[in-house]
Amino acid sequence: EGRPAAEALQHADVNGLLPRPGAESDKYRRGVVGVVAGSARYPGAAVLTVSGALRGGAGAVRYVGPAADAVIARHPETLVSAGPPSKAGRVQAWAVGSGLGEDRERLEDVLSAHVPVLIDADGLRLAEESALRARTAPTVLTPHAGEAAALLGWERGEVEARRLAAVRELADRTGATVLLKGSTTVVAGPGGVRVNPTGSGWLATAGTGDVLSGLIGSLLAGGLDALDAASAGAYVHGLAGRFAPRPAGASDVADALTAAWRDLLRDGRA
Ligand code: AMP
Ligand code: MG
Repeated sequence: EGRPAAEALQHADVNGLLPRPGAESDKYRRGVVGVVAGSARYPGAAVLTVSGALRGGAGAVRYVGPAADAVIARHPETLVSAGPPSKAGRVQAWAVGSGLGEDRERLEDVLSAHVPVLIDADGLRLAEESALRARTAPTVLTPHAGEAAALLGWERGEVEARRLAAVRELADRTGATVLLKGSTTVVAGPGGVRVNPTGSGWLATAGTGDVLSGLIGSLLAGGLDALDAASAGAYVHGLAGRFAPRPAGASDVADALTAAWRDLLRDGRA
């Protein structure tokens, strides 16, 4: 009660949000997105997060972690390093957590940064609620129902049955903008509540969430606020699921992000 209703995102809204490079642009002004993801056990999560980040409009992607060889083999344009993220050089937003394993140290280093941070997957399991509340810059969390249930201490079925209540409660508890993944993705944060209409069951395949995390991190680095980055990211990702071959793997969805952008940029500003 007394809360604004959820708004369904429209093509034109997202069109208006996507960053367009202009004559004055350079890679730093377009934004550098840092990726802290993957591990010796899950190197593919690093590759998929970077794949999403490269198609989010940022000017450069910086990868920090143990899967640099796998990342470079697939995406040679990535800047890579292995030490603490805070020593890696300029970064305007971070995407952290997919396939991270138990690397709490890198996660905490990222959380102490004064720039926007997106947290997914293992990062959601490792992050302390107090550390989230203490952040001085925007935070985006991207749980699926199981991850949201663990964070809230609810049963998974209760999250599924009360998705809007769950996402709002999590946003209130953490102070973050929360994107609850699933057949209808819902985003809630201090700026409002939005529902994404573009998803499809074809996206329910391993690794698509990793692609989404990189994509949203990239939009944050490009200067979108947390609610806009999360909701535009969900919209573009869902559209990519429609343009991708069927059945698609997560790499196909990442590749189809360019078709989703083309579709969105076709009408509207240059
Ligand atoms: P994850 O659970 O992290 O692997 O992420 C899965 C991705 O696929 C998220 O973007 C979900 O929103 C999307 N997804 C999963 N299941 C469905 C579904 N039934 N309909 C639409 N999108 C889905
Ligand atoms: Mg996931």
